[in-house]
Amino acid sequence: MRRCTECAVRIEGNWSRCPLCGSHLVGHPSPDPLPSVPLRFSRRRLLRILTVISLVLVALSFVVQLWLGHRPSEFGAVRSVWLGVCTMWLVALMALRGRRDLARSTLTLLVLAALVCTYWDYLTGWHRWSLTFAVPIMCGCAIIALVILEHVMRLEVGEHALYSALTVLLGIVPILFLLLGWVTTPVPSAICVVLALLSLALLQLERAADVRDELAKKLHV
Ligand SMILES: [Zn+2]
Repeated sequence: MRRCTECAVRIEGNWSRCPLCGSHLVGHPSPDPLPSVPLRFSRRRLLRILTVISLVLVALSFVVQLWLGHRPSEFGAVRSVWLGVCTMWLVALMALRGRRDLARSTLTLLVLAALVCTYWDYLTGWHRWSLTFAVPIMCGCAIIALVILEHVMRLEVGEHALYSALTVLLGIVPILFLLLGWVTTPVPSAICVVLALLSLALLQLERAADVRDELAKKLHV
């Protein structure tokens, strides 16, 4: 069995660091007394929900294109919706690979994609489609993906705070673009802000339900 010299406790299981203080353990590891708990979520359900949402978004973008039939110059903006669908899938696939660092990898992905779009926009004459459409749509779809993941994966209570912070950040970026006057039409930014607010409200409601369940358990109600 391994031992933590700082806490003077013996630790069962295959730990490399002390679960109490984080310092290195000495001695040989012993077999874990508890069975390993598999992830409690249905991969199939997650993929089904994402597929339905993606199909609806892509279908809507085609409907809008039909509606804009006489103004093909506006198509580019509508097609940036597909970037959002790709973002949603990337966030979900990252979550399926390893959900430890989901918040950080989502943020990295979005910053990289936003920089690529902005540079591309700059190269092609700076029509500001990147800041007006691409970035708010990607932020909005990342928020949708996070809400679905929250729901399907049943995250720990501690992770709620991290996801709320990330949602606030994703909602603030489009507001900034809007306030700085960097966008040509405010609609996508506004939708993203509304999505962020709705998702925060949902997070708080869920957390309130969790807290109520805990209280009920403690008080044997
Ligand atoms: Zn320790």
